[in-house]
Amino acid sequence: MSEQYRGLDVTGRRVLVVGGAEPAVPAVVALVQAQAQVSVLADALAPVVDDLVQRGLVTHLPGSLRDTVIRDFALVVTATGDPTLDAGVARSAEAAGVILLPAQRDSAAKESTTTDSTNADASATNARQQGRVILVGGGPGDAGLLTVRATEELHRADVVVVDRLAPVGYLDRLASDIEVIDVSKIPRGRFTSQERINEILVAKAREGRAVVRLKGGDSFVFGRGMEEVLACQEAGVPVTVVPGVTSAVSVPELAGVPVTHRGLSQGFTVVSGHVPPDDPASTLDWAALARGGTTLVVLMGVHHLARIAAALADAGTRAATPVACVMDGGLASQRVVTTTVGELVSAGAPDGLRAPAVVVIGEVARFATGSHPPAEGGRNES
Ligand code: SAH
Repeated sequence: MSEQYRGLDVTGRRVLVVGGAEPAVPAVVALVQAQAQVSVLADALAPVVDDLVQRGLVTHLPGSLRDTVIRDFALVVTATGDPTLDAGVARSAEAAGVILLPAQRDSAAKESTTTDSTNADASATNARQQGRVILVGGGPGDAGLLTVRATEELHRADVVVVDRLAPVGYLDRLASDIEVIDVSKIPRGRFTSQERINEILVAKAREGRAVVRLKGGDSFVFGRGMEEVLACQEAGVPVTVVPGVTSAVSVPELAGVPVTHRGLSQGFTVVSGHVPPDDPASTLDWAALARGGTTLVVLMGVHHLARIAAALADAGTRAATPVACVMDGGLASQRVVTTTVGELVSAGAPDGLRAPAVVVIGEVARFATGSHPPAEGGRNES
């Protein structure tokens, strides 16, 4: 896929983002999604940016602007969050003759949205003054797979609290005065506790702000969404939920895999693989899943995939059963590796397998295509 970054074709071009904390998050993600070669010059990285660096999708440059050869870049995006620093970056870019963009668009779009809805709906104004939380399922990460309703809520938001697998690049199209709070949980890495996330949602809403909690996929599929709803309700904060496109179905689909197919599979079962089958904390009956005859869709299963395959094989799943692992579904970096239950048992996880991935186990997995393009027309250019 190739997407533009604010009307610019940055595919394969070197782009320097100055700043790596929360103000830089939307621009960095949008640039990666547009297939730019992104370097981030910053001391501190927000979790989303840190995660992209760990995954090899962004280069972290140490040092200062003075040590950086700006001429080497086609574009400089300044996102320090500090107007004085941003102005300094602008001067350096100008001196080097490189195009400069501020991190986010001006606030005109948001103001017009706010005015419209204020005139149109007095009760909405009251709700805004009161503050509220909207849980938005953002789909698997491509902004084009956000729902219309999700984009409307985002354009009305004052604060957006994001996760790493959410389509954070879309925020780059919003007003610059939106506060972005990054509460990503990185597997075996940095995280903000669920209690702290709940506190942030409630506290920001109590300031009278419209708080969008932007999550990956659908909020109620392994998203801890209901915990956030309950925390808001207990605090007396109005809360609503906007359903999202879950990765459990869409990520296989983006790789050409239908979770059901006439003659091959009459159903699918979505499970979490974050606890291995032989662990006392596991509440799944893997033998029953093996006998169930449905396609198995495993989320958060990368780490324990070989043990999951062993449990299925022990319960009678055929060794030749195909397995498709779809990584970074819907993102510019989408990749697929295929294997079989038998190979997983004998040789372990395939080379190159890494999170996030949706793993499909069953006959339908044989439809997986390595370079299947994302859904046409699914992109939102608004
Ligand atoms: N609420 C989310 C799932 C959260 S659990 C949803 O409905 O999609 C996180 C897991 O989702 C990841 O470990 C991975 O298994 C899967 N996932 C989410 N986005 C993904 C993507 N773009 N590509 C591959 N897997 C993804």
